[in-house]
Amino acid sequence: MLEDLQEEMGLTYLFVAHDLSMVRHISTRIGVMYLGRLVEIADSDELYENPLHPYTKALLSAIPVADPQLSAKSKRLMLQGELPSPMHVPSGCHFHTRCMYAEEGCSREVPEMKEVSPGHFVACSCLPIKG
Ligand code: SF4
Repeated sequence: MLEDLQEEMGLTYLFVAHDLSMVRHISTRIGVMYLGRLVEIADSDELYENPLHPYTKALLSAIPVADPQLSAKSKRLMLQGELPSPMHVPSGCHFHTRCMYAEEGCSREVPEMKEVSPGHFVACSCLPIKG
């Protein structure tokens, strides 16, 4: 229905969701947010095929796979700890308390959003990220 309306009325949507399989289906461009900050922005196919921010990677790895054989082969990235309170966000990179790649400076510096390839932006001061 949303796609029909979009075509008929020439609409642009800002679609906010947690279900990333749905997001891929409906979006042409995606911004991933963590505790109120954008951490990665890219066209839909680029984001799903080449996620760079550790939070994006963790979100994508959590998408259920319907095929049991493929599901058994896929590796889920488990985040450490609990989601911090939005009333008391961590210093520096908001994600540093849960990031598997965090380094010393991550708790002090707010990472800048950088364009790593045309139209693909990532906010992580430790790029290139392993994994
Ligand atoms: S800046 Fe540091 S804590 Fe933040 S996502 Fe990058 S590696 Fe992780």
